[in-house]
Formats: sequence, structure tokens, C-alpha cells
Amino acid sequence: MKKLTIYLSFLILLFIQTSPGTAAPKDGPKNIILLIGDGMGLGQMEIARLFEYGKKGHLYIETLPYTALAHTYSANNRVTDSAAGGTALAIGEKTKNEMIGVTANGKEKKSILDLFKNHLYKTGIVTTNSVTDATPASFTASVKNRWEDQHAIAKQQLQTKVDVIMGGGLSYFGANEKGDTNLINQYKKAGYQFVATKQELQHAKSDKILGLFGPKHLNFKLDRNKLHSQEPTLTEMTAKTIETLSKNSKGFFAMIEGARIDHASHASDLTSIWKETIEFDNTVKYCVEWAKKHPDTLIVVAADHETMGISSSEPMDIKALKQISVTPHYMASQLQKNKSGIGYTNQSIRKVFKQYAHMTLTNRDIALFQSDIKNDRNQVYPDQQIAWEIGNRIAKHYHAGSLDRSTEKLSTTGGHTSNMIAVFAYGKGANQFHGVMDNTDIPKILAELMGFAF
Ligand SMILES: [Zn+2]
Repeated sequence: MKKLTIYLSFLILLFIQTSPGTAAPKDGPKNIILLIGDGMGLGQMEIARLFEYGKKGHLYIETLPYTALAHTYSANNRVTDSAAGGTALAIGEKTKNEMIGVTANGKEKKSILDLFKNHLYKTGIVTTNSVTDATPASFTASVKNRWEDQHAIAKQQLQTKVDVIMGGGLSYFGANEKGDTNLINQYKKAGYQFVATKQELQHAKSDKILGLFGPKHLNFKLDRNKLHSQEPTLTEMTAKTIETLSKNSKGFFAMIEGARIDHASHASDLTSIWKETIEFDNTVKYCVEWAKKHPDTLIVVAADHETMGISSSEPMDIKALKQISVTPHYMASQLQKNKSGIGYTNQSIRKVFKQYAHMTLTNRDIALFQSDIKNDRNQVYPDQQIAWEIGNRIAKHYHAGSLDRSTEKLSTTGGHTSNMIAVFAYGKGANQFHGVMDNTDIPKILAELMGFAF
């Protein structure tokens, strides 16, 4: 009888160790929250710190006990885009710019989120961008080109069975002219609760949530009042995600992205870099405070790359930049088209710069603006070019540290840089993050801590 008991215990032990669904991690964390500030370099953090708290103040992120620096180059470029940068953080391997969730030779590879999923942990992705955009997609989909088909990425996310998906991107989930079906209905059939406003999100009770709060990316924090935005904040989406994933679960993995730090940086919009980074910082604070009540949690804060060489230059006029109350994207929307439909009226250009950026343009400035927008060939985000032209002029006027527009124009990533990014960690396993590492080391360390094999 005793022998039989020993034999049975041995069998049970063997089962626990070999079955992927039940394998207990070797004392790894129960929950991992990976927060990614898209385009958030040390310059963006410094701008947010100075604007919000002054010279002697501190961001919350700075209080995390473990820090490291990471290189971000991609397989085919010294400077990464968000696709290769996100993929490195997701699959632990370098890939080429524009590739998502695949290796440099185009082979699909499981992401750290997939590994959690395979081991029956809950998973979630949250972003202020479209949920199908590069960073969230790197964790939940595999495509050879990020611009290929957002609807196909949304479909893959359904197949991946991510428990919580929140952000923008509603326009990619509907039926379309290419004959794709309405994905919202398919998500509902698969047991997801679909929510589209802040109120609906607050009342959501399901274990599986699809929250899409805008057609593409969510609004910039700075424009939200002006646009009467009904969207939840990044912190509100994160709070609901943690609440949902931690309910009756063995643990979870969540990727939370502050996506618009990158968008603000591309436009050299120092005011929005401040606002977006502070929103991200608040979200980090929320997660760490939750982790303090759930000590078996690991929080890692990273970035996919730096954007526009943002820096805290000495002559920068912080006071003036803080007085700007809308983004260059909003300003662009206020320009009046010429009667011909090409270009904008001189009068509206003068008015917009005066009203929102408190700048007086000369006739020469206006003529130059007109010719610059006419000759712009922005291949990366053609729809953003007017906003970038406005933002760049404001940054220059107030002497903020940002790449010159001519350098940005030559860049295939729209102004990303290869500056090292900072990594911060708190909680169980946080001491693994130190020194100078590679971006691919981050998911490798997470997998190692959990006892998962890539
Ligand atoms: Zn970018």
C-alpha cells in the first residue's frame, strides 16, 4: 500500500512536471505586467518630469527599485520601427523593420503572451493606439508587413484568444468592402463582452472583454476636453484589465502600452509628450500599487525605441510650451482649405498659429509653411504630415530639443533614433533587470522567470 502511494505520488509529480497546462513555475511571479511607453526615451521622461514636477521633482517610474538600459536596433536597421521594436519585446528575437511577430526570415514564433496562454494563464493587451497596431500586434499576431491588413491582425487576435483587448481600432473590426465579416459579432460569439464607452467599460463584468473606444487610435490627452472624448484613460483601461484577469485565475500576463508618447514625439509636440508620459506614469503607479497588495507580481516598464531625439535643451521655453492647450493634430484640423481644395488659406494658417501656439508668423513664414506642406513626401504617416509640420515649427520657436524636420524627412521611421531606452522593474524577479541589455533580453528574462521555453 505504501509502495503504491509512493508510486502514485511519483506519477502525479511526473504529470505536474510534464503537462504544459499545469506546470508550476519554479517560484516565478504569478502575474507579470509589461508596460511599454512607445517612443519613450529618457528625453521624453525628462520633459514630463520637468513640466509636471519641476527641476527637483520625480516621475513615479523613477521610484522603481531596479533599472537597466537597452539597445533597440533591428535585424536590418540601426534604428528600429515600432514593428521590429515590439516584436523584439514580444518574441525575444530581432526582426526586420515592418515585420510583426515573425523572425527576420519571416518564420512565425510564439510571443511571451502565447507562452502564458499555453500554460493556461490569462492574458490581456491594452493600448491608446489601435489594438491592431505594431506593439499590441507583436504580442498577439504574426504578419510579414505591419501595413498589410489590420483586419487580418484583428482576426488573429481572436484566434489567439487573448482574454482582454482594449484600445482603439474599431474601424478594423467591421465588415468591409473586401468581403471580410464583422469581427465584433465573431468576438461576441466567442464569449467576449464588447464595450465601446467609458461607462460600458465600468459596468463590464465578463471574463473576456473586447473594448474598442475609437475608430483608430484614441485621442491625445491634450485634446480630450476639446473633442468631448468619451474614452476611458489608459489607467482606467488598465484597472479593468487587471480586475478581469486576476479574477479566479492562476495568474496573468498583461501588456499595457502608452502609445501616443510616440505620436506626440513624431510631431515634436513637447506639450503632448508631457501629458502622454504623465498618463503613462500614472498607469505605472496604479500597477505598482496593485502589485504591492499582490506581492507575487512583477512589473516591468520599457520602451520599444526613442522617437525624434527629444531632449531637454537649455533655452527651451517650458512656460510657453505648457500654455499650449491643443495638439498640432487638432490645430491641423482647424486649418481652412483653399477654394481649389489644394493647400490651406494663409489667413487660417496665421490664425491657428496665433490662437493655439501664441506665435506670430510673418508672410515669409507662411509662404515657407505652404511650400513645405506642398513638397512634403512623408512616406511613413502621410495623414500626419501637416501636424508634424506645425509641431516642428512650434518646437523650434520655443527652442525645444527635437530632430530638425529635414533629418526627420530622411528617416524611414519618421524620426526614430537608436538611443538606448530605460527599463524599470518592481516586484518578484525584478532584480533580474540591471546593467546594459538588449531589448530581446526582456521577454527572455520573463520566460526564464516563469520556467517557460521560447
Ligand atoms: Zn514611431
